[in-house]
Amino acid sequence: MKSKSFKKCWWCNSTEDLTREHKIKKTHFDYFYKKDEYKDIDLKLFKNEEDRSFIIQGPKSDFIKFPKFLCKVCNGSRSKPFDESYDDFFSYFFENEDEILKEKRIDLEKIYQNQWREKWILFKKYIVKHISCRLVEKGYSPTQNMLNFLNGNEKLKDVKVVLRLKPYANQLSLDFPPLSIGRLYHHENIINNEIEFTGWFTVKSLSIEYFVQKNISEATPRSNLLRLHTTDYNMFSNGLINRSNINEWQTIFEDYQFGSDSEWYHFYMKNVDPS
Ligand SMILES: [Zn+2]
Repeated sequence: MKSKSFKKCWWCNSTEDLTREHKIKKTHFDYFYKKDEYKDIDLKLFKNEEDRSFIIQGPKSDFIKFPKFLCKVCNGSRSKPFDESYDDFFSYFFENEDEILKEKRIDLEKIYQNQWREKWILFKKYIVKHISCRLVEKGYSPTQNMLNFLNGNEKLKDVKVVLRLKPYANQLSLDFPPLSIGRLYHHENIINNEIEFTGWFTVKSLSIEYFVQKNISEATPRSNLLRLHTTDYNMFSNGLINRSNINEWQTIFEDYQFGSDSEWYHFYMKNVDPS
């Protein structure tokens, strides 16, 4: 498939200085992989479509970025507060992962102190920016409400974000592939005559799942305690996931939530030795 070229910024319509956004945040790559490590570990981007894989040379590789369709301002100063809030969230998550897996909830006040309401909105703006990139990459557009939300003019109505724990990621002794992106699913809502989307990405033991549908979102959370959903694949298996059956499980990891159509997903992982 030839990659499309984009002529303007999907957010502000500017045609100047178009840049690429990371598909998964660069800070995650920097957290899991050292810069000089890429060659040695043979880090690859696996795209299931046509069974292709690409070697990633480093955290700035174009393979792990979206096409050039965000201007320098929108991808820079305009969305910097989103990025910072997202990074604060995951710094806290990594530091407290064991406890969070046990408690199955996150106290936003511990991450953002008394600014948790504003900062949680900024976190969601990062997610909505990511989702918009995925939609535009596939030839769709973010909804007007999503754009209004990013611009600070409206509450988020058209996107629901669900955080889901995947405890097995911590149970594995091998280098578990810590970063993955699920397929973007779309289906036509015949009643509303609209296209709806679902998708997710996973960072180690936490998945961010999202649903794009008109007015799907509830009002802003009243509580700073965020309840987390859990999926543990070990419940379906007699034995633990290990080095020899990881590939078998890998397919299930990526497909389980939204059906069995695995034609188009990709994930990033360390090259697992199958022996
Ligand atoms: Zn722009």
